[in-house]
Amino acid sequence: MKSSPSTGPEQCDCVVIGGGPSGCTAATVLADHGRKVIILERAKFPRYHIGESLIPFTYPALERIGMLPKLRASAFPKKYSVQFVSPSGRASQPFYFFNRYDRESVAQTWQVLRSEFDQMMMDNAREHGVDVREEHTVVELLKQNGRHIGVRVRRADGSEFEIHAPVTIDASGREALAATRNAWRRGDPKLNKVAVWTYYTGARRDPGIDEGATTVAFVPDKGWFWYIPQHNNRISVGVVADGKYLTRDGIKDPKTIFHREVPENKWIEDHVKDGTPCGEYWITGEYTYRSEFCSDDGLVLVGDAYGFLDPVFSSGVMLALKSGVAAGDAVHQALLDGDFSSAKFAAYGAAIQEGIENMRKLVYAFYDPKVSFRTVTNESPEVHGLLTDCLSGDVSKDFTVLFDAFRKYTEIPEDLPFGLPAPGRSSMIAA
Ligand SMILES: Cc1cc2nc3c(=O)[nH]c(=O)nc-3n(C[C@H](O)[C@H](O)[C@H](O)COP(=O)(O)OP(=O)(O)OC[C@H]3O[C@@H](n4cnc5c(N)ncnc54)[C@H](O)[C@@H]3O)c2cc1C
Repeated sequence: MKSSPSTGPEQCDCVVIGGGPSGCTAATVLADHGRKVIILERAKFPRYHIGESLIPFTYPALERIGMLPKLRASAFPKKYSVQFVSPSGRASQPFYFFNRYDRESVAQTWQVLRSEFDQMMMDNAREHGVDVREEHTVVELLKQNGRHIGVRVRRADGSEFEIHAPVTIDASGREALAATRNAWRRGDPKLNKVAVWTYYTGARRDPGIDEGATTVAFVPDKGWFWYIPQHNNRISVGVVADGKYLTRDGIKDPKTIFHREVPENKWIEDHVKDGTPCGEYWITGEYTYRSEFCSDDGLVLVGDAYGFLDPVFSSGVMLALKSGVAAGDAVHQALLDGDFSSAKFAAYGAAIQEGIENMRKLVYAFYDPKVSFRTVTNESPEVHGLLTDCLSGDVSKDFTVLFDAFRKYTEIPEDLPFGLPAPGRSSMIAA
């Protein structure tokens, strides 16, 4: 390991681990508050990432950090709806967001190519004054007397240095640096799926306003496909199901798994048949997880570094952006108050936990073959609006009436006991 000439650690108000959507959002919010923020990003952007379908309630966060003009000027297809398709190929009436929200704002969202979207988010953070350093890997969370004081960083040439800050934000994505190193990472009791995906060029796109729709197409009793139209004539297609099912008969190769499942849904089969697969076949397991704690003294977790939920309702980027904004504001307040204790972030943790739990309940209902969203809304029309809200990512509200309607058909899980601040050692820590 090489070291830099010793000039003492660098100092800033907040150091952010990871330059994905959650890290860039938190950092941009803090920079807008006038804070000195450094993002450390392991990769050189643009880099590949999955997570391409946005949902309407990404809008408030994108508006807050000034991303909307960039998205409106982009080539990303507009997404107006989500539809569900039965294994036989029968498509439901799409859920059009503009039937409930303003067509010119929240109701309009996008299907993005993450390499381009994440680059835009990073450029935007820099424009707002964030010091973003690519090819800088955080190798250690630094602690003193039990509280976090910053990070040790490795540059691409192998040299290392320290950055000290009163608050560190962990936005390291599924690597979940802090949760993994502190043994806070907890799997979900049931949502332990595997995803396999690839890309097509020239596959079929539905006409008109449905061109950018997300389609969720069922594999009988087992799982589902996503079909996400992107720009440049590309479509992202993936299948999600239990690992045991996807790897039955000892098949482990992602390409073989993927093509074995395609005929399981007639709509998917028809839509990809004129297209050409392009690029790699990807696979990921270790699916849904949460960190037991949302914070520690001098540390806050955001986005996937805090928790990841099965992507059936495309909630990941929304939760990343939402937690990024909330964490940015909470850290700014902590800096104003000179209090960086774990407990200072209790309200932040409770808000994010509420959103994830509401979405998680709906995901559980989705995976129960006895449940049909259409049946539930036909029988209880008064919950249609709430269902659309939850599916659209407006998750910070009381959904008791909605989940009571679902309880006639399925068990709705209790909240997991997570999202609290870790029992920190300190209160009112001076900067
Ligand atoms: C199969 C699948 C399908 C999905 N589909 C969707 C979808 O359709 N819509 C949706 O909204 N979401 C989807 N998601 C979820 C989405 O990908 C994530 O929720 C989202 O990317 C989270 O953003 P983030 O900023 O928290 O993490 P990330 O986007 O993962 O960013 C984390 C960043 O941290 C960097 N990093 C990690 N470790 C270090 C380190 N030690 N030092 C420095 N940098 C580090 C990484 O390089 C990375 O750039 C999907 C996920 C999966 C697995």
